[in-house]
Amino acid sequence: MARYGIGLIGLGKIATDQHVPVIAADPDFEVVAVASQRGESLPGLAQSYRDWQDLLRDAKGVDAVAICTPPQVRYVIARAALSAGKHVLLEKPPAATVSELVDLQRRSTAAGLTLFATWHSQFNAGVEEARRQLAGRQIRRLEVTWKEDVRHWHPGQAWIWEPGGFGVFDPGINALSIVTRIMPTPLFVRSATLSFPANRAAPIAADLVFAATGGADETLSAVFDWRQTGKQSWDIAVETQDGLHLLLAEGGSKLSINGKPAVEEPSREYQGIYRRFAALLSGGGTDVDADPFRLVADAFLVGRRVEVEPFED
Ligand code: NAP
Repeated sequence: MARYGIGLIGLGKIATDQHVPVIAADPDFEVVAVASQRGESLPGLAQSYRDWQDLLRDAKGVDAVAICTPPQVRYVIARAALSAGKHVLLEKPPAATVSELVDLQRRSTAAGLTLFATWHSQFNAGVEEARRQLAGRQIRRLEVTWKEDVRHWHPGQAWIWEPGGFGVFDPGINALSIVTRIMPTPLFVRSATLSFPANRAAPIAADLVFAATGGADETLSAVFDWRQTGKQSWDIAVETQDGLHLLLAEGGSKLSINGKPAVEEPSREYQGIYRRFAALLSGGGTDVDADPFRLVADAFLVGRRVEVEPFED
């Protein structure tokens, strides 16, 4: 029998693509209940609810919930789950606002429950090696290029264009979760240009300029764009003052150092997430890394909004 029973809330794309198969293969976890507004379920699962509140109240054997909904509703569900005595795993982005995340952290600490704000991209093998390589070094150049085709990756996801859906920051925050992990010093958003389609409430593209040390010789930037067709790019290039060149490609799964391949492993992001969750649960810990989320909030705070052509799915 698995050590921890999971209640899965929201059975959309990421829940079915990753959480369900990864939990099924992890001896520490078992999905014991699901909540799906559309009435989706898993084969042979008796405890299936349309309303997540019914799951929290009635389901047996739920030690923790994994909240795989859009971010706009994450806080309300997580807060109720903590009140019901459940440990909580949050999909990214962890909430709709920074204050919500701070409150969840406070509540989980007060209740003595685990809160894990996951950043799946951080679990790529190349990311940890890049962090190790950059430790103690001064960065001269950071160039993030995150360009993908929204029609391919987010077909029909209306929530992503609504306030609190984050638009292109939904993938862009994955890049930022890697950047904040590997940078040896904190990063600040100096300026941002956010491109909003005339008919949408969230940006389709964003250009960010960062500062770290504030030195005149540093160039730190990120480009997120959802209008990319053809080759997709999820690359982070870093150059240090002492001449080290790193390229993290394919979302962090490939790392090359000074042009030579250093790490290339198949992506096992969600396996890493559930290993970490098991460790947190057994040790009674909490893991809330707010840095990527704060950078997105800062980009909205200082960003200049420009209107671009309407976007139709
Ligand atoms: P999705 O396919 O739209 O699934 C989200 C699911 O949440 C919906 O299918 C619905 O499932 C449930 N839901 C929607 N509104 C709800 C509400 N008001 N209350 C309760 N449940 C609600 O979206 P997704 O791609 O899985 O993304 C979900 C989250 O995972 C996002 O924050 C996203 O950034 C993150 N994520 C996505 C991916 C990816 O590749 N798609 C990768 C990593 C992380 P039910 O009808 O079953 O309730």
